[in-house]
Amino acid sequence: MFGLGMPELLIILLIALLIFGAAKLPQIGSSLGGAIREFKKSFESPGKEVPPAPPDELVCSQCRRPLQKEWSACPHCGTKREA
Ligand SMILES: [Zn+2]
Repeated sequence: MFGLGMPELLIILLIALLIFGAAKLPQIGSSLGGAIREFKKSFESPGKEVPPAPPDELVCSQCRRPLQKEWSACPHCGTKREA
C-alpha cells in the first residue's frame, strides 16, 4: 500500500523511535494494546455494564406501599394481597 516496502517501514519505525525515544515505545505499545483490548471487550460483551433488574418488590396494588411477604393484606389500606 502506498508503495511502501519493508525498508521504508523500517525507516519510519526508526524515525518513530527517535521521536518518542526508545524508552517510551514499549509504553506506547502497551497503552495501545490496552486500548485495543478494551475495544474488543466492549464488542464481546455488550450490555455487561447494565445493572441487573432489581428484585420484584411487593407493593400494595392499592396504595403502592411496600408489603411484607407474610402479610396477606395491606395494613395501610386493608387491600388483600394479590397472589
Ligand atoms: Zn395498601
